[in-house]
Amino acid sequence: MYVKDILIIGAGPAGITAAIYAVRYGFTVSVFEGLSVGGQIATTNEVENYPGIERIAGFEFSQKLYNQAKDMDAEFFTENVIAVNFDEDIKTVTTDKNTYAGKTVIIATGAKRRKINCIGESEFTGKGVSYCATCDGAFFKNKDVAIVGGGNTALEDALFLANICNKVYLIHRRDEFSAMKMLSNAVKNHKKIEILYNSNIDEIIGEKFVTSIRILQDGNEIVKDVSGVFVAIGTEPDNGIFSKYVTLNKTGYIVADESCETSAKGIYAAGDCRTKQLRQIVTATGDGAVAAFMAANYLNY
Ligand code: NAP
Repeated sequence: MYVKDILIIGAGPAGITAAIYAVRYGFTVSVFEGLSVGGQIATTNEVENYPGIERIAGFEFSQKLYNQAKDMDAEFFTENVIAVNFDEDIKTVTTDKNTYAGKTVIIATGAKRRKINCIGESEFTGKGVSYCATCDGAFFKNKDVAIVGGGNTALEDALFLANICNKVYLIHRRDEFSAMKMLSNAVKNHKKIEILYNSNIDEIIGEKFVTSIRILQDGNEIVKDVSGVFVAIGTEPDNGIFSKYVTLNKTGYIVADESCETSAKGIYAAGDCRTKQLRQIVTATGDGAVAAFMAANYLNY
């Protein structure tokens, strides 16, 4: 089996930055991505807080990252990683198609959207329930929809949906938002957005597609007719396959500090998948560079 210097799992901003740096250090690199490049950023409407770029569509930004790494000869595989073995000096990564060998591995698997776990959520996913307003908002033109969450994503998505939909119910479990003040004010002042505080969706109801939701607000039951339910209640990591080899914290993030070193030799964790204070594109790209640097040191010495 051909042995690459660095295998990178995940092609979001962290993984792609690691690939760019690793190739520039002169190493051979393979990057694995299950669905499409860009990670969460590919489905973000607009990025406005990456220094040096005033405004760019999330999809365009992810394509630019990909093109930059591809032009430098990083090899990309659109294959889902289903198992790993980090027991030996030569590590292996098994996808749904093949097994690959590498001297080091950078884990950059990001995080996936958290679920409400209410009745009807799984049943109606793709039939009115969505985890990406940017991707699916257009299907709900002039319809009534609900969005769940009180963070930056939920509020940005509520404003985005209000431009397309007839009415947007913003459902939040507390009586104040954790999102930026600027967003909170914009949402509170928007005529098409109705905020339901202290509320949780208890059931998503429909036939072929979503028709309504049952909400519990301060113990009282409310039913709202909606065609779509957008879930934006944060993210959680997806690190199960690594748990035998690297230490995870209680919430499933890979324990690694600013050096991106994990508890296993030659294995690094970059971006949202590791323990950190701030999960943003800029912190993910920073991690990607550090992880490649640490992997390069490991390979050189
Ligand atoms: P987040 O900041 O973690 O917010 C999650 C929201 O969902 C919170 O309002 C939380 O309520 C609520 N929530 C969590 N679990 C819930 C549950 N089981 N049921 C109901 N509600 C639940 O997530 P995010 O908004 O996706 O943002 C993720 C990260 O990206 C953050 O660091 C954020 O700042 C960043 N981000 C930045 C921008 C920007 O800078 N423009 C845009 C989007 C995201 P509680 O408040 O009660 O916990």
